[in-house]
Amino acid sequence: MNHFIEDGEAYILKTYNRFPVVLDRGDGVNLYDTDGKEYLDFGAGIAVFALGYGNREYNDALKVQIDKLIHTSNLYYNVPSIEAAKKIVEAAKMKRVFFTNSGTEAIEGALKVARKYKYQEDPDKEYEFIAMKQSFHGRSQGALSVTGNEKYQEGFVPKEFRAVFAEFNDLSDVASKVTDKTCGIICEVVQGEGGIYPADPEFLKGLRELCDEHDLLLIFDEIQCGMGRCGSMFAHDLYGVKPDILTLAKALGCGIPVGAFVAGEKADGVLVPGDHGTTYGGNPLAGAAVNAVFDQFEKLDLVAHVREVGGYLWDKLEELKNEFSFITAHRGIGLMQGLEFSEEKQAGQIVSKALSNGLILISAGNNVLRFVPPLVIEKEHVDMMTEKLRASF
Ligand SMILES: *Cc1c(COP(=O)(O)O)cnc(C)c1O
Repeated sequence: MNHFIEDGEAYILKTYNRFPVVLDRGDGVNLYDTDGKEYLDFGAGIAVFALGYGNREYNDALKVQIDKLIHTSNLYYNVPSIEAAKKIVEAAKMKRVFFTNSGTEAIEGALKVARKYKYQEDPDKEYEFIAMKQSFHGRSQGALSVTGNEKYQEGFVPKEFRAVFAEFNDLSDVASKVTDKTCGIICEVVQGEGGIYPADPEFLKGLRELCDEHDLLLIFDEIQCGMGRCGSMFAHDLYGVKPDILTLAKALGCGIPVGAFVAGEKADGVLVPGDHGTTYGGNPLAGAAVNAVFDQFEKLDLVAHVREVGGYLWDKLEELKNEFSFITAHRGIGLMQGLEFSEEKQAGQIVSKALSNGLILISAGNNVLRFVPPLVIEKEHVDMMTEKLRASF
C-alpha cells in the first residue's frame, strides 16, 4: 500500500471509507494522483470546483489577496467581502448576506433566522421546521435535524429536535404538516445527495404560497444546485419562485471554504447584533475567492456554457440509458445529472471501476451515479467520459 494511505489511515479519524487514491494536482478538468495517473474529473470535489483546476486569474487573485491580507475578523469591515456580498445580493436579487465557512453553517444560520422570525411573534411556542425526505443539509446537529436521512440522524439528533419530514414534490403532504408550531420550510431546489431529484415547478410555487399564507420563512438550499450548476445562476431562477433565505456554498468559493446565507425582504433584519457570528466567515481571502469566482462566471459566460454542455451531457446519458437496460432512470438539470441503476448493477461498484479507468464519478442516494463536473467542461470531455463509463459498465 502507498505509504501516504498508510499514514492517512493511521492519523485521520476514520469517518470515511476512502478510495485508495491520493490526489496530488489538477489541471483543467483532469486530476493526477501521486503515481502520476490521470483522471477525468466528473465530481469536481463534490460540485465545488466549477472553474476547473489552474484557472490563472482565479489563482492569481487569491495569491494577491494572500500577500495583502488573509484574515481580520468580523469586528471590522474588509473590502473583498463587501464586494462579494454586493455581487451575491445583485445576482440573487435579495437583501443581505451572512458569510460562513461551509454549507452546514449556512444552513445553521438560515434555521436560526426562521426560528427567530416566529419567536418574535410568540416566544412561548416551541417551533419546528418542515423538511423533505431524502434531503441533505449538512452534518452538524442543527443541519442534521432537517436532513431527511434517519441513518445520519440516529444517535446524534434527539427525536424531539428533528424536523417534521414530508415527501419531496408532494405539496398536499407538506400542507397537511403545517401547524401553528411551524416556523419554516426548507428544501433543496434539486436534491443532490438524495439522488438528483429536481423539484417540480408546481411544488415550489405551492411551497411559496403555503409560506405566504401561514407567514413562514421559505429556505431554498442551493449549496449544491446553485452557482450556475443548473444553467442559471441559481436553480430557483428557472422556476420563477423566490425563497426568503437562500443558502450557498460548494462552488461559491471554488475550493476556498466559504458559504453564505442570503436574506430576502422578509428575513432581513431578523438577526440583530449579538444574535449570530463567526470568526473566519467572510474573511478577506474568502471574499477574494467569491469575487474571483463571480468575475470568471461573467468572463467565461459560464451559465450559458452550462446550458449548452448540459444539454449535450443529457443527450449522451440518454443514449447510454437506451443502450443498457440496467439504467432505470435519468434525471437532472444542466451539469447536475444522475443515472439510476436496477439491482443488478451497483452504483458504488461502477464508481470504483470508473476510477480504475481514470474517471472520477460520485454516487448519490439509492444506487444513483452523479454527474457534477467542473462547469468549464467541454463536449469532448463528455465524449471521453461516456467512453470510459461504457468500458466501466
Ligand atoms: C454539501 C451540502 C451541504 C453541506 O455543505 P458542507 O459544506 O459540506 O457543510 C448542505 N446542503 C446541500 C444541498 C449540500 O449539497
